[in-house]
Order: sequence, then C-alpha cells, then structure tokens
Amino acid sequence: MLIEIAPPRFDVDLDLRYASADNLTAAPIYARSLCLLHADAVAPLGRAIALARGLGLRLRLFDGFRPVEAQWLLWRALPDPRYIADPRRGSNHSRGTALDLTLADGAGRPLAMGTGFDDMTELSHHGRADLDPEAQRNRALLAGVMAGAGWLSYPYEWWHYQLAGAEGYPLLTDSVSGGKMMAK
Ligand SMILES: [Zn+2]
Repeated sequence: MLIEIAPPRFDVDLDLRYASADNLTAAPIYARSLCLLHADAVAPLGRAIALARGLGLRLRLFDGFRPVEAQWLLWRALPDPRYIADPRRGSNHSRGTALDLTLADGAGRPLAMGTGFDDMTELSHHGRADLDPEAQRNRALLAGVMAGAGWLSYPYEWWHYQLAGAEGYPLLTDSVSGGKMMAK
C-alpha cells in the first residue's frame, strides 16, 4: 500500500522534480505533483523528519514512488545503470521503497551539497573528499540523519536512500495511483 507524503501529516518540503521540467529529461514526467511511499517507509521517514528537526533542519523531497512507466522514460533518457535502474530489473522507486531528498535549513533553503539533484556524475558519489568542505559536511549530515532513521544509502547518488530489503517489494505501475501520476 502506498501513502501520500505531504504536509501537514508529514512535516516536509516537496520539490518533486519529475513533476516539473527541472529534471534530466527537461520535460515533466509526472502529470501531478504527488509523492507516494510504501506504508513501511512511513515510520523511518518520521524518524528522519524528527532527527532533522532536532538539528534545526527540514527534509526536502525530490522523488518517492516512481511508476514503472516513468522509469522507462528516465531509462530512455539516460541508459546508465549506475544512475538509472534498468526498468526490466526495476528501480526501488518503482517499489515505493526509495526516496530522493536533500536537507533544507529552518527557513526551507536547501543546503549546499556540491552538486544538484540528478547530477549523475562522479561528483554525486558518496565519499568525495574534493568537494567544498561545507558540502561534505552537509552530505554527512544527511547521511547521518537517514542512517540514524534506518535508511540505506546508495554509493553513486548522495540524494538517494532506500529501505532495508527494498528489492523484496513488488514493482508497481501507475495503476496504484489510479493512473493519476502519468500524463496520458
Ligand atoms: Zn533515487
């Protein structure tokens, strides 16, 4: 079951890039700005929100559930399995068990992370010692908040986190949203 992630139930900021043209395909992929996650992600997300709040920070979400149809659009735009999961194997986003996000300050201003979301270069990998120290510190903050809340990181993308056992969940098409996410 998928749950909508939005205020006021969830104290997060939404910046859903695939619902706008501000993404690697330069066109909207989703027809609606909608962030859904598997029900099993609700508790870990709540823990991350609380941990960030304790630091005077907020979670800013870029993407959650991504219908299989959308994964095909991304794969056709960038068929590089380091950054985009082959839709035939499936993305954990298409299982509702992965989340792309960054941290923002208390006023909602995103923290510097050294690259933007979906940068898809080696600069987006974890463990970079050649970034501005502030960006390294901010990435470490995000990683600490998410690890402390029970999420797992992904080596090539500082913004991507997923549930333990994420691959064990079924792949889902847009039919689970009633067909609301994908443009017809
Ligand atoms: Zn992701």
